[in-house]
Amino acid sequence: MVKLLDLSLGVSLSMTRFLSQEKTLNRVNQIKKAKLNSVEFGLLSCAIGQTRIPGINPFPTEKQSKSVAELFDNSEYYFSVHAPYRISATTEEESKLKYSKSNLSATLKVTDWLNGHHVTFHAGSFKKKHNNSHVEKVLKNWEEWRQEKAYNAKLAPEVGGKYNSFADFFTLVEITGGIDNCLMTWDISHDFARGGNIIDEGAILNRLEKLDQAFDLNSTNRLPMHFSGMVVGKTGEKHHTLLGKGNGVPWELVFSVLKEQNFLSKVNLICESKVPKGEKMKGNSVSDALKAREFLESNQVVKQYKGKPGNLDFYFN
Ligand SMILES: [Zn+2]
Repeated sequence: MVKLLDLSLGVSLSMTRFLSQEKTLNRVNQIKKAKLNSVEFGLLSCAIGQTRIPGINPFPTEKQSKSVAELFDNSEYYFSVHAPYRISATTEEESKLKYSKSNLSATLKVTDWLNGHHVTFHAGSFKKKHNNSHVEKVLKNWEEWRQEKAYNAKLAPEVGGKYNSFADFFTLVEITGGIDNCLMTWDISHDFARGGNIIDEGAILNRLEKLDQAFDLNSTNRLPMHFSGMVVGKTGEKHHTLLGKGNGVPWELVFSVLKEQNFLSKVNLICESKVPKGEKMKGNSVSDALKAREFLESNQVVKQYKGKPGNLDFYFN
């Protein structure tokens, strides 16, 4: 067995102002028991000023955030945060941009309390035409503002799973790589779902090369990566599932290339697997993270994708 000291691998832990102590402790214990060393705190249902809407919760407080972080031995964990869904950089409406920025501000605050490295967020989707230059302007503005406010956590917009969402891998690496101190989140299941070519070795190598050119990656400034199983439809992502289910995300192939290229010390791997609602399957994000670790620590190398990418190969790039 290969010991990968440089591996940063984990799962997410949901947080809101109303999180129950019991649920949190359960999750913390699962993570510790599995000896994972990375946690992505999920603020997905949080929002400011809309607390009367069912399913929407206020952000965690400073005291709460710090006490959750203290449940882990801080120095041994790599922390990050996933922002709420209510952030959009694609919208051209001033009021919506303002509201997005307020939610991002609250998210950055929590991330700094947790001592998290970055904030992963979905940058939004396009209704009609893809207006990438508008999003670029917004992201630049947010980055300048983040620095003015002296927030420590970096911004890391995520590769979107739907064809209409911002953005595909190459657009994102080009835009965020051009903004000083900005990062991006490479969700390989989203990349796959929207028709990104991660099913052959050469294409994956090409992506790693782009990442190396765009960012200064090392063991303290890791590229956030998400992985999970994925069910793909005509417009891209339908929903997450367990590894090996759905349309067969080529995680073993991608991880083999990461390993061969000594890239594991430059990435932060978060497993987002889950059993889809209403389905019966054995497993969860923790067991899939362990599956990934077992694969990475073994001598196995996968050179070829054997699955079927679904019906999306017409726009693979
Ligand atoms: Zn993701």
